[in-house]
Amino acid sequence: MTNRAQVEVDLSAIAANIARLKLHAGVPLLAVVKADAYGHGLIPVAKTAIAAGAQWLGVALLEEALAIRGAGITVPTIAWLVPPGSDYVSAIEAEIDLAVPSIMIFKEVSLAARSVKKRARIHIEVDTGMTRGGFLDEWESFLDLLVSNRNDVEIIGMFSHFARADEPGQVQNVAQLKRFIEMSDDLNRIGVEPEIHHLSNSAATLVDASAHFDLVRTGIAIYGLTPDLDHLGTSAHLDLKPAMRLRAKLHLVKEVLAGTPVGYGATAFTTSETKLGVVAMGYADGIPRIAQGAGVFVAGRRAPIIGRVSMDQFVVDLGRDSTAQAGDWVTVFGAGSEGEYTADDWGKASASINYEIVTRIGPRVPRIYKLATS
Ligand SMILES: *Cc1c(COP(=O)(O)O)cnc(C)c1O
Repeated sequence: MTNRAQVEVDLSAIAANIARLKLHAGVPLLAVVKADAYGHGLIPVAKTAIAAGAQWLGVALLEEALAIRGAGITVPTIAWLVPPGSDYVSAIEAEIDLAVPSIMIFKEVSLAARSVKKRARIHIEVDTGMTRGGFLDEWESFLDLLVSNRNDVEIIGMFSHFARADEPGQVQNVAQLKRFIEMSDDLNRIGVEPEIHHLSNSAATLVDASAHFDLVRTGIAIYGLTPDLDHLGTSAHLDLKPAMRLRAKLHLVKEVLAGTPVGYGATAFTTSETKLGVVAMGYADGIPRIAQGAGVFVAGRRAPIIGRVSMDQFVVDLGRDSTAQAGDWVTVFGAGSEGEYTADDWGKASASINYEIVTRIGPRVPRIYKLATS
């Protein structure tokens, strides 16, 4: 077991966030656990989510859904990025719900269902204005096709995704909601009435009650992170508890003079005599190479990054009178309540967002779990 870096996941924080979001939404909740549960660990998070009241799970990939079934988890689970040519037979046999966003996929799923004599559980995915997933130009032809050709599928749901739910009051949200209802009416007109309509991500779950319908799909918020720092505020402002803390070891501490160049390209120089700390994590572990303006928390204070992040390590300016020593643990990011940097700070420091920071921590960093207490 490594003792140079670790992700600590507080499952009780995830359970608390889910309970809070469920209460707020007032409808069933689907926990989005794609991308290894946003880097927090697929199976531990999936189990925690269900115990905390999530009735559904959602993932992008078929492999992710199959891993959930492989762990003995049987709650309804949707996979929404299962491209043409995928092993739809396995999905149908494992009772995985599939998003259907195109005629091509509808036909392949239907064929797979016929071959195993079992109806596929599908959710019709409609493009209401994000111009990414879901039916757009093919919609009328798909409706025509559905009129006479839907015996191989069980149409469980219809859904869409917001492009700007993190910007309350944006007119595009109103337009997407309106289009969603129109497309639902189109289905009803040909006698298709899915039981479950779902449209809301975390941001819409938090701020737009008119978009909750029958199920909300919450991702980032269950991990205690804000969907949008600028428009919706911090985790604390949203009453969410960040579940992930990233820690690493200080590999070296060294005293240097003012004017000392640091790192590849000598892109930074010390401005005064100081102590530098070498942190045993780098871009191969998911620390963005371009990050500037974040750092670590050690010996009671923040120590900012100095110079470029390398593959396995980066350097921080500890300050001349720091008491930090080689071998100490530093907090790269956490909830922020003790002065440490947050995933939001790291997102900002690398022209990105908290989503990218937590999902990109590499596989060589072990996940350590603090169990949810019930
Ligand atoms: C990722 C994703 C979500 C969750 O989004 P958050 O902003 O993390 O809540 C919901 N629905 C779909 C289709 C997604 O791809």
